[in-house]
Amino acid sequence: MLPPPRRGLTVIDHPLIRHKLALLRDVGTSSRDFKQLVGEIAALMTYEVTRDLATEPVEVITPLETMMGERIAGKIALVPILRAGLGMVDGIAQLIPNARVGHIGLYRDHATLLPVSYYFKVPTPAADHRFLLLDPMLATGGSAIAAATELKLAGARDIALLCLVAAPEGAAAFTAAHADIPVYAAANDRELNAFGYILPGLGDAGDRLFGTK
Ligand code: URA
Repeated sequence: MLPPPRRGLTVIDHPLIRHKLALLRDVGTSSRDFKQLVGEIAALMTYEVTRDLATEPVEVITPLETMMGERIAGKIALVPILRAGLGMVDGIAQLIPNARVGHIGLYRDHATLLPVSYYFKVPTPAADHRFLLLDPMLATGGSAIAAATELKLAGARDIALLCLVAAPEGAAAFTAAHADIPVYAAANDRELNAFGYILPGLGDAGDRLFGTK
């Protein structure tokens, strides 16, 4: 039997995730190792995030006899929010090699502080896919809320948000805006600072991934 759909924030707690998260947070971790760790944590999280995927029977011929096995029934789409979300794609795709990949680009308007969409391309028909929306940091929640809204406008009905580190403020804002979308994180940190950074956090995930600072 499939577990009931999740609601709100689920922190995926596992010793390997906690270990890798501590390395990821370390200011001394190189960009190369950071990238590797982001992928590894995202992959470990995928095991739990995909627990409720439907399967269908498939006939398998083993070297000895024929049996009924199972395969994943639906289509899966990974959708990184640019740019830091890109760091999570390869780790997840190692476990779900058939997953399609979309992209959502958003920037924050300096005057209004609201997210503005500059790129949106996702697999179609959207209604046929389970979307895994990817962003390592759920800070204010503004980008993730806007990205999920765009996905829904495109027809998506089955979405989960994966982040590595959440702030309570971001998780609450996201769930208030999209109560139907489960949120998975490897950690729920203490708070946001005045500049919108998560504390204790890990700094700017995009800069650390791509070595831009
Ligand atoms: N985005 C980041 O990369 N880091 C934060 O702490 C908050 C938002």
